[in-house]
Amino acid sequence: MSRASRSPTAARGGLPSCRTAATSRVIGISTPSRAASSRAMRAVPTPSATWPRRPRISPSASLEVQIPAAPASVRIGSRNHLVYEVHITNVRTVDLALARVDVLGDESGASPLASYQDTDLRTRLARVGARPDASDTRVISAGARVVLFVWLALDEGAAVPATLRHRIALQVPSHEGEAGVVESGPIDVRRDSPVVLDAPLRGGPWVAVYDPAMTGGHRRALFAVAGKMRIPARFAIDWIRLGDDGQSVRGDRSILSNHYGYGAEVLAVGDGVVTAVVADLPEPTIPITPDNAAGNYLTIDLGGGRFASYEHVQPHSITLKVGDRVRSGQIVARLGASGSVSSGPHLHFHVSDANSALGAEGLPYVFKSFEVLGAFESIEALVSGNAWAPLPIERVRTQQLELPHHQTVLRF
Ligand SMILES: [Zn+2]
Repeated sequence: MSRASRSPTAARGGLPSCRTAATSRVIGISTPSRAASSRAMRAVPTPSATWPRRPRISPSASLEVQIPAAPASVRIGSRNHLVYEVHITNVRTVDLALARVDVLGDESGASPLASYQDTDLRTRLARVGARPDASDTRVISAGARVVLFVWLALDEGAAVPATLRHRIALQVPSHEGEAGVVESGPIDVRRDSPVVLDAPLRGGPWVAVYDPAMTGGHRRALFAVAGKMRIPARFAIDWIRLGDDGQSVRGDRSILSNHYGYGAEVLAVGDGVVTAVVADLPEPTIPITPDNAAGNYLTIDLGGGRFASYEHVQPHSITLKVGDRVRSGQIVARLGASGSVSSGPHLHFHVSDANSALGAEGLPYVFKSFEVLGAFESIEALVSGNAWAPLPIERVRTQQLELPHHQTVLRF
């Protein structure tokens, strides 16, 4: 869970506010007060007499809408999911309030694939460069940006659309709630299929820990590197091993070897070439810095612009070096607790598009096969030692070519 801890300072981007310049413009054309000297009024024509009136800005010209990373699709629990972010910037000098966002597919006139409003919209939005607080994220300050995090499960059997459009309804609270709609142009959905991977770990049970809705979680952690914001761990999973007692640890949790997953063999998910190795950080790693939060890690170039990254592994458990070739299933490390591992020993795993810890876009992937045993209700349930809910034996099933649902308990 390293990215969450690295995220707070990362994306302090946003756009510089235009408030000062715009305000002075408004003052420049405002009607002079009665206190203005009549001498001055005689010396120059009144602005209102000679200057064109500044047109009122339409609410529909108030937003810039960007989708920096093309929407990706991935199969989770027999349903196709669309995953991407919509960056929405207020280009006005006044606050704007988002009322609704519709996600529209290929067919014009068809009902939206999703409509977000009220709490459903608020909880999917985050302000760029601002600490989360209790205020309503649907209100965008002058010059500020919010990001809408989309994790959209299409209906079962529904095909992935080729393009998406977005219809954003907004209000201008300072102008008596004046309302408008912005419809942004079509954006292509990625047509390439997620890379198909072998298991990163053996046996189980393992919990696939992630939460697309978690504030500050992997899926929402934006990093600005070389002037571009990206989400490297968009599809990251933290893997935690369970014992027969359904817990991740027995006895004193401060003893690493009491954690069932500690020391487990970590496997190459495909054939590839090692492109990054850090192997000598101690456990625990103190102090945690942005540079060592991933702990000991390994990156494998799988080809086709896909890079698999494994983090937090045991010190000196990686014996490979940059340039080495690996075969799928080969042992590449042992599960550990280096770097930022507040939840205890686990394997952080993700796939991205570059050999860079933070300067890369997270890409979807699927596993060839895994057996679904049940699930935890939430990450909190897992962390607080609550039991997971096993599936009835007749519903235990093998899933193929899918990403596990979050908090799934499974066996490879
Ligand atoms: Zn992680």
